[in-house]
Amino acid sequence: MSRFFSSQYSGLTPYVPGEQPQGKDYVKLNTNESPFPPSPYAQRLARQAAGDLELYSDPECRDLVAVACEKLGVAKEEILFTNGSDEALNFAFMAFCDDKTPAVFADITYGFYPVFATLNGVPFETIPLKEDFLLDYKDYLGIQKTIFIANPNAPTGKVLPLSEIEEIVKSNPNNVVVVDEAYVDFGGESALPLTKQYDNLLVCQTFSKSRSMAGARLGFAVGNSKLIQDLNTIKYSTNPYNVNRMTMAAGIGALLDTEYFKTNCQTIISNREETIASLQKMGFTVLDSKANFVFAKSNKLSGKELYEQLKEKGVLVRYFDKDRIRDFVRITIGSKEQMAALISALEELL
Ligand code: PMP
Repeated sequence: MSRFFSSQYSGLTPYVPGEQPQGKDYVKLNTNESPFPPSPYAQRLARQAAGDLELYSDPECRDLVAVACEKLGVAKEEILFTNGSDEALNFAFMAFCDDKTPAVFADITYGFYPVFATLNGVPFETIPLKEDFLLDYKDYLGIQKTIFIANPNAPTGKVLPLSEIEEIVKSNPNNVVVVDEAYVDFGGESALPLTKQYDNLLVCQTFSKSRSMAGARLGFAVGNSKLIQDLNTIKYSTNPYNVNRMTMAAGIGALLDTEYFKTNCQTIISNREETIASLQKMGFTVLDSKANFVFAKSNKLSGKELYEQLKEKGVLVRYFDKDRIRDFVRITIGSKEQMAALISALEELL
């Protein structure tokens, strides 16, 4: 730390992203990316947009918003595009939490939530997931705090039914409930339609997983126009051009190429089910997942040992040095070939 670093941030422990190795060719199953390239149409539109990079991007993302509104059935005042959904989540912590309105989320969930809270000087509480790693919606009823729920959750992959999300939203009418649906396209049920009914519900989604655009950084938030207005106040006070031209163009292509999107999601779901069966046969306990990853525990090796030994064999997975989940590894579901490589590496190890 330099002697100039603001005392406001000196206690901040930053989020640690999964490794992005350069050089060695790993079977990369550690950051929940898609194994498939972006839609060819998205790539073509992005290449065209590269020729206009001398100009700032449209701060209102009008072309992209128009396509998204059509696809998602929302009005243009009800959506905001961001630089990855991480940015939408950070904006939500800035906009909807303060000393009187702390943030609340599960003890085991996306590791960025406590970082965003601390970054923004917002108090937060965590509520333990149950023994089976499921969130009990009753813990959140009438809690009167700004609620953040990843659904499906990460790193567990477990999903909450929409009816339980609705109960939480309904019972906290004076607080915002943020539902982070980064993984919803792999078998979850989106709360997006409920945003019409509840003015305190904000749904965040990303193009990083099911639309193969992690490297482009594109996410969005959908909610009541007043909520979106607040997020815009934050956006225009930090970075009005938060979505670049190539990403915006690629986003349009990705949204329009529905077939490609659907086929890829289906492939991941089917690879996931096969992987779960293979892992179980090898003595793993695997949590029920509706995401593009599985959270699994070996009956022989700890999470750290698995992570290290798989890495030696050229397979990268994610391990969390955290209470309750030390024995687990999170394994991204990749292509058939990648999953076969994982399973054969495990067979050698175990
Ligand atoms: N939410 C959850 C639960 C995630 O796991 C991730 C991916 N790390 C994100 C949000 C953010 O993804 P992105 O910023 O790439 O949209």
